[in-house]
Amino acid sequence: MPTCLPTVLRRCHACASERFRANGKFRVNANHKLLDAWLLVLCTACGDTAKLTVWERMHVRSVRAELLDRMHDNDPGLAAELLKDPVVRRRNRIALDWAGAWRLDTGGSDHLDREVIDVSVRFAARIPVRPVRLIADGCGLSRAEVERLVAEGKIVSAVRLSGKLSSDFTFTLKR
Ligand SMILES: [Zn+2]
Repeated sequence: MPTCLPTVLRRCHACASERFRANGKFRVNANHKLLDAWLLVLCTACGDTAKLTVWERMHVRSVRAELLDRMHDNDPGLAAELLKDPVVRRRNRIALDWAGAWRLDTGGSDHLDREVIDVSVRFAARIPVRPVRLIADGCGLSRAEVERLVAEGKIVSAVRLSGKLSSDFTFTLKR
C-alpha cells in the first residue's frame, strides 16, 4: 500500500533534475465558463513549480462540483488519484517512481512455519513491484532463496514471477 505520493519523473526546466513531488496543491483558472486546472509539483532539487494539466478549457457544467471543491481544498487524496490516472500521466508525459513510497503489510508471520502456504497479494494501488522482492520480504527469505524456490517449483503462481507486477496475484510456497 502507498505510504505517500510517488515521485513524479519529469525534466525540470530550471535545473537538470528529473524528480518532482506533488504537495497536494492545485491551481484552478476560470475564464468565463471554461476552467483550466493543474496539479502543482515541485522540483526536488531547486523547488521550481511545474503544473500538470488536469483540465483544459473544460466547461464548468461538465465539471463535477465535488471534484472542484477537492481542488480548492488542495486535497492530497485527489492528487494521488490523478497521478494514478494513466490519461493524466500520458497528457503530461510523466512517469512515477514509487521507491520509498509504499510498504508491505504481511498480517504477521505465524503462518510461515507451515509446510505449504497459499498467499494472496493485494495491491492498494497499481505500484509496479518485483514479486520476488515481495515474496522475500513477506516470507523472511532472501531474494536469491526465492529465485531458487521458483526455479525448483516450490514457489508456484499463475502469473510470471520474474519482472514486475502491479496487480493482485496469488502464489503457493511449499517447503
Ligand atoms: Zn529543478
